[in-house]
Amino acid sequence: MDGGRAILLYKSPLIHHHDLHTMKPSPSDYRSDTLTQPTAAMRAAIAAAEVGDDVFGEDPTVNRLQQYVAGQLGKEAAIFVPSGTMSNQIAILGHCQSGDEFLCEAGCHIYNYEQGAFAQIGGVISRTFIGHGGILELSQLQDAIRPDNAHVVRTRLVSLENTHNMAGGRIQPYENVAAICSWARKHDLATHLDGARLYNAVVATGISAADWAQHFDSINICFSKGLGAPVGSILVGSADFIALAHRRRKCLGGAMRQAGVLAAAALYALEHHVDRLDEDHRHARTLGEGIASISGLQLETPEVDTNIVIFNVDDRLSTGEAFVDALAARGVRMLAIGGQRVRAVTHLDVPLENVDDTIAALQACAAQFE
Ligand SMILES: *Cc1c(COP(=O)(O)O)cnc(C)c1O
Repeated sequence: MDGGRAILLYKSPLIHHHDLHTMKPSPSDYRSDTLTQPTAAMRAAIAAAEVGDDVFGEDPTVNRLQQYVAGQLGKEAAIFVPSGTMSNQIAILGHCQSGDEFLCEAGCHIYNYEQGAFAQIGGVISRTFIGHGGILELSQLQDAIRPDNAHVVRTRLVSLENTHNMAGGRIQPYENVAAICSWARKHDLATHLDGARLYNAVVATGISAADWAQHFDSINICFSKGLGAPVGSILVGSADFIALAHRRRKCLGGAMRQAGVLAAAALYALEHHVDRLDEDHRHARTLGEGIASISGLQLETPEVDTNIVIFNVDDRLSTGEAFVDALAARGVRMLAIGGQRVRAVTHLDVPLENVDDTIAALQACAAQFE
């Protein structure tokens, strides 16, 4: 171990969990699909990328990515941005003005995990509805549009999340999406999809990205999750909407220069890492079945739709926090997400072959606390 790395070890609480020689996460790190490292082939695509200054619109690889994704989703235009948070917030600020309101599910990422940026930056407020396992029904929203009256905010937008992260990777039923969005359009509400993991829904359902996207005015997709790219998200919509998004991105400091090195990774991911999401889904399903069979652990939703498994640790065993610590001591990492809840996410850096060992480690931890 060289001295530089030793110093890093003391400075960063994150680094001591990694193998210091390769800086790779442990081979059973299920905390998040953001932990994926670019593969050798992806790094080769990054190295070979043709680049230019994207603020001048002259990065050919960024332009190719934007055209490719817009085409695949059946929309006019797209804009590459540094993060899913920026993508979502640019979308909300594009659809809503100060004093406007949007409707969303109570557990969604935009409302819970993006610091309420829409309120901080844009004076926009949110109104949340508790879905059944993260799934909203049109009947919940039908009376939510506020009247045209100076006392109240203006209802402007409906935002959905698919797959739903904190609902255990749940896929929104296609009929619900279609019903909610056609109702929204009829009432002049805009529609946004936080599709951070849209391709997981595409692979799991066989419903194309364009079919999902047709119901929405804007769509965010993340490349840095299960698709395995190091950085980046994309916002897709009409040409006018994306022109406005260019202004917002610049205002937020998100305009990048030779971003083609990042776009090349995203293009590589779209070409090579979409179909393999099915393996992550099989992995998660097997893991879910294992968890369901362990006394003291309970799946939050009985079906595992995609690559996320959320379970509860019985409080006679331990807290979620203590449970994941015990699990880490056995070489398996998962994320405590509050109280008794634990989240496991499958991805391309945790091989499917590990699943039996993972289930054995969970079993041993549960037995240890009995
Ligand atoms: C990760 C995630 C985001 C935000 O992405 P960042 O790149 O981390 O900002 C948005 N929505 C969902 C559902 C996510 O899982």
